[in-house]
Amino acid sequence: MKLQLKQNSSSSKKKEVKEEKKEEKKATVTFPPKSSHNLTDSVRLKLSGNVAESIQTGDMDMEGLSSVEELATELEEAIYNEFKNTDNRYKNRVRSRIANLKDPKNPQLSRNYIYGAISAQKLAKMSAEEMANDEMKNLRNKFVKESIDDAQLATVQGTKTDLLKCGKCKKRNCTYNQIQTRSADEPMTTFVLCNECGNRWKFC
Ligand SMILES: [Zn+2]
Repeated sequence: MKLQLKQNSSSSKKKEVKEEKKEEKKATVTFPPKSSHNLTDSVRLKLSGNVAESIQTGDMDMEGLSSVEELATELEEAIYNEFKNTDNRYKNRVRSRIANLKDPKNPQLSRNYIYGAISAQKLAKMSAEEMANDEMKNLRNKFVKESIDDAQLATVQGTKTDLLKCGKCKKRNCTYNQIQTRSADEPMTTFVLCNECGNRWKFC
């Protein structure tokens, strides 16, 4: 051991100098990207927060569904992954989603997104026309139509659908039951069960 140390003493000095240089280099290389990354994150965090505020939950029962924060993060991520930076194109894209999501004349877009009928990837790319279009009404019509087809039945048993997304496991493997309370004039309540994790929620 001692012998080895002695033999290495001159070369270890060299090594030390080398390592110092290495560390210096490392520090200068790492630092700028790290700081700009934080800057990116703060822009993304802020916009993600704005998206969360723009999602209209109205009087919806959010039990069993994704939180608005989760939904906002998912949407922001989908947009960021397309641009890979936070330039104006990215910002404009996020802001146009926000404007449409919070539009009081278009609560259906939020509902549509909350229930999973529109995925984050789809909402990230939708045009203004598509967002203003009543995609959600189409979804609701689909459910209403099926319930009309079974007008005599109080309960339509277990219809499988991939239109709805589970808020817990995020999968699209659900079964829904529609309960018609009293008269056909009253709104239909749809009870959804996730076949993957057993999560349950209401859709109305
Ligand atoms: Zn689930």
